[in-house]
Amino acid sequence: MKTIKSTFLFSKAQQHIPGGVNSPVRAFKSVGRNPLFISKANGAYIFDADGNKFIDYVMSWGPMILGHAHREVLSTISKAMKNGTSYGAPTELEMQMAEQIKKMFPSIELVRMVNSGTEATMSAIRVARAFTKKNKIIKFEGCYHGHGDSFLVKAGSGALTFGVPSSPGVPTEIASLTLNATYNNIQSVEKLIRENKNDVAAIIVEPIVGNMGVLLPKQNFLKQLRTLCDKEKIVLIFDEVITGFRLAQGGAQEYFNIKADLTTLGKIIGGGLPVGAYGGRKEIMELVAPLGPVYQAGTLSGNPLAMSAGLTLLRILSKKKILYKELEKKGKFLAENFRAIAKEKGIPITVNHIGSVLTVFFTEQEVYDYHTAVSCDTKTFTKYFNAMLEQGIYLPPSQFEAMFLSAAHTHSDLEKTVAAFRKALSKLH
Ligand code: PMP
Repeated sequence: MKTIKSTFLFSKAQQHIPGGVNSPVRAFKSVGRNPLFISKANGAYIFDADGNKFIDYVMSWGPMILGHAHREVLSTISKAMKNGTSYGAPTELEMQMAEQIKKMFPSIELVRMVNSGTEATMSAIRVARAFTKKNKIIKFEGCYHGHGDSFLVKAGSGALTFGVPSSPGVPTEIASLTLNATYNNIQSVEKLIRENKNDVAAIIVEPIVGNMGVLLPKQNFLKQLRTLCDKEKIVLIFDEVITGFRLAQGGAQEYFNIKADLTTLGKIIGGGLPVGAYGGRKEIMELVAPLGPVYQAGTLSGNPLAMSAGLTLLRILSKKKILYKELEKKGKFLAENFRAIAKEKGIPITVNHIGSVLTVFFTEQEVYDYHTAVSCDTKTFTKYFNAMLEQGIYLPPSQFEAMFLSAAHTHSDLEKTVAAFRKALSKLH
């Protein structure tokens, strides 16, 4: 595989951008190579600066559920663009977006648009704290909720990949307000609540974890969280930045039939443009300015291009229930084949899969929390990642991330991926 241009661009980029990238995981550091610089994408494929073509399983880390450069999404963006790119004033599009979100997420009664998942989660805990008049939050070790100070305490995703789950620069005073429980372990949550009686404002959780790789909630775990929050008057926040509109139209809440008090959204909601949102119960969201005293604002929030892209995508998804069944089938096809090949080759793996997301963990044990995730063999993952890339399969460059499927992945793409997996595993011996 030729990487002359990418290598050149990376060396130049490093002179101007910290680490040469605008988001850490992109640097490919944990998989021991330089990143590829992408020049274009279409459907299930991305193309790098050297002209290499890949079947993409990153899909911009989730937004591209219908595939890259989707015709209808592009066409609404270009139509909207002709009317100007930003006004800093209300638009009909924002109102339609809010209506559409509420239709798909019945637990959301009022919703505020922001510009990223990070902004959504930061704002959600602010309003939860104001509502409960309490300060502490509970999150789960290894979950990632963006790079807000309160969340960079035992965080997942890139923070976990690079071994800096707790970041310098976060004051101890702020970090001390974040309590970390163990995912899939309700007793660990109960214990923290007991020890911090009447001090916990919110519990924030990735209902399906994407940021330690894919982890699934054990039976009743999410329901138990709901019950606990009701009993203790704690705001339950589902961070559906990944799962929203991906697991089902109504995200994990529809899939598991549970209502969160607040929901944070991102990725798919912007159709590939920078958008996030947070929303939920009216009595909580009514506290947000200018209706209430909790300040939160954004110059570009509700941007007309982003609203057009996101709204088009959501409208297509809301008409295509079958899409989710098809995505589930594709995910299952990969997961089952990966398991069978690994068994045949005698290489221990665990594949966690749900809907259109999956992770191949190099371990023989079940992976269901931070400790089981970090005990996986990341050296073997690196070899596997590189062997797949060399065969034209672009995977997330970390053991602790999810593979994302889209409507654009064809059966032939999946078969090629399975064939590449077989070869990659042969090289691991
Ligand atoms: N929450 C979750 C569950 C995420 O996966 C992410 C990003 N991967 C975020 C929040 C932060 O979103 P953003 O990168 O848009 O700030």
